[in-house]
Amino acid sequence: MHKVCLLGATGSIGQSSLEVIALHPERYTVHALSAWRRMDVLLDLYRRFSPQVLVVADRAQRDDLYRAGVRCDVLYGEEGLLSIAADAGSDIVVAAIVGAAGLLPTLAAVRAGKRVLLANKESLVMAGALFMQAVQEHGAALLPVDSEHNAIFQCLEKPGAGLAEQGIERLILTASGGPFRQYELERLHTVTPAEAVRHPRWSMGPKISVDSATLMNKGLELIEACYLFGARDDQVQIVVHPQSIVHSMVQYRDGSFLAQLGRPDMRTPIAHALAWPERIDAGVEALDLLQMAALEFEAPDEERFPCLRLARQAFATGGTACAILNAANEMAVAAFLQNETSFTMIPVIIAEALQRLPVRAVHSLADVLEADAQARRLVADHLQALREG
Ligand code: NDP
Repeated sequence: MHKVCLLGATGSIGQSSLEVIALHPERYTVHALSAWRRMDVLLDLYRRFSPQVLVVADRAQRDDLYRAGVRCDVLYGEEGLLSIAADAGSDIVVAAIVGAAGLLPTLAAVRAGKRVLLANKESLVMAGALFMQAVQEHGAALLPVDSEHNAIFQCLEKPGAGLAEQGIERLILTASGGPFRQYELERLHTVTPAEAVRHPRWSMGPKISVDSATLMNKGLELIEACYLFGARDDQVQIVVHPQSIVHSMVQYRDGSFLAQLGRPDMRTPIAHALAWPERIDAGVEALDLLQMAALEFEAPDEERFPCLRLARQAFATGGTACAILNAANEMAVAAFLQNETSFTMIPVIIAEALQRLPVRAVHSLADVLEADAQARRLVADHLQALREG
């Protein structure tokens, strides 16, 4: 029986993971759940899954949960997250907190040598080299949940070996293109948060939905792929595939392309990562090949969607550049979601942060966290200046 800890249980990935887990009570039991703002959802999950520990943001929330009848341990804050990520009560950790807040708890799970199901791509983007080193040193099993990376993982002949050793020439990440794929640049200036989060294929949390619309999501995934699979950035090709049926591909030296296909439903990669190397039911309906539309592939347009280029540049720069990119993006996306800035200002804000902040070598986590904090301060000042006109 595997015991699972879900960091970010109340989110889109957290809840999809729990749906898969609920299909297999003979294999998985829920040990710990974390939430941040959605206490009603957490309470519901507590009643359904009877975990041993809950983690919330602060003490007041903990007291509210006790008053609502919760009888298990309730921890709070970052300390609580680090505790459930590392404690011996679970052997599987689903890393599904959104953004930089996921970095330290995910690393704690890695350092505890757990099987880590990685959805929180931001932790790899911020601190990829340190993160992968910790995976090696602590014997953690890192399984990608991001559908593209999970697809690539499924297409590898020898997971863990280098690309050259496996005869791989290229990794091909597919992108849906987001809701604004066919919009003219002029129209992009006035798109609203509600339009941006209405993704044509995937149902996801608000931040990743906006990232998907700007194509920053693909930029973050490019960086994620480089760290996960030991690829150079010129070995990763991005291809827009509006149907979101082919989740990614691996191009081998002999001319073979291996692809993973399926419905755009995160329960498939989650089930794969939970059970690997076995296969379990994900509760996902099979693809109907005869009903399937034609599969189209096109090049991404980096003029209308410059975030992809910014991510490539940050990765090529190295050091703390990706941490700056990530923090500036989180701040800009949050501001866009609150109607404080426009969609097309997102890449402008990120480019400014990358241009103005010094890039330093990463010797330790402290270097990453300092760059993250500096970028947040810079963007906050920028947004404040905008508000003051
Ligand atoms: P959601 O916004 O739906 O969920 C985020 C989760 O993180 C929630 O449980 C939320 O708690 C919690 N959370 C938010 N802020 C904090 C914080 N500061 N500290 C601790 N916990 C926090 O996001 P998604 O599930 O969509 O995405 C989660 C991660 O998975 C992201 O990194 C995303 O890039 C990645 N991912 C998501 C995919 C998807 O299909 N959704 C696909 C591939 C990757 P609460 O809700 O209680 O406030």
